[in-house]
Amino acid sequence: MADLFEKAKSFFFVNRCAACGELLKYDSDEALCPVCRAKWEDEKNEKCEDCKQIQTLCRCGFEGCSADTVGHLASYSHKEESVGKQLVFALKNSHDSHIVGFLAREMAENIRTYLFTEDAVAVNVPRNPRRVSETGYDQAKMLAKALAKELGVPFVSVLKQKKDKVSQKMLDREAREEHARRNVVFEDGASGVIKDKTVLLVDDIGTTGSTVSVCSSILKENGARAVHCVLVAKTKLETPDKNKKTLDKSAK
Ligand SMILES: [Zn+2]
Ligand SMILES: [Zn+2]
Repeated sequence: MADLFEKAKSFFFVNRCAACGELLKYDSDEALCPVCRAKWEDEKNEKCEDCKQIQTLCRCGFEGCSADTVGHLASYSHKEESVGKQLVFALKNSHDSHIVGFLAREMAENIRTYLFTEDAVAVNVPRNPRRVSETGYDQAKMLAKALAKELGVPFVSVLKQKKDKVSQKMLDREAREEHARRNVVFEDGASGVIKDKTVLLVDDIGTTGSTVSVCSSILKENGARAVHCVLVAKTKLETPDKNKKTLDKSAK
């Protein structure tokens, strides 16, 4: 019976590589084909230009960011194609639980190498509700939930963004921070769930760190002992005009 179910599943649910689209084995819990998987491992092992550590060990974070640490798996530029970039793009657009699960496992594995997570709670970086209703999907929340499950810690959604017409895409660092300060709010009466806890602040990509920084400050003001931001990837803010198209796709 279970066998029959698995066979039916393989017929209806086709898994494809998130980067190149190649067909994957139906029972694979990978999100990448072997070729892209190898490229992904290389990307995680690329040296950070600033600290010279590999990406998974890099803790450079963002300038002036109030999170205690910022960890990520890979770093990419909007100008270049990379598996990391395609994973973030696929996460944002495909609603695929397969990709969410894969990234949550990868993140959990890395987090365990540098953080004690026994008293941790996972919190998602809040999305603009307008964008969530447009896409019907909140990838940071999905990722935070999956990561919490993977680490065996609670997931709590204590941050919210007010409805706002301004898109962050074309804003510089200061404007983004100002925007986040005006729009991110803490859920009323929720401070009990993060009090004296280590908060894992989860998002897919970080560009300037301004939203992360504002979220971290708010979490600490509400009793969090420490805030560690965990990202799939870091990316740099490019000059909007030159790369508007790519930026529109994956920056926020
Ligand atoms: Zn592939
Ligand atoms: Zn670094």
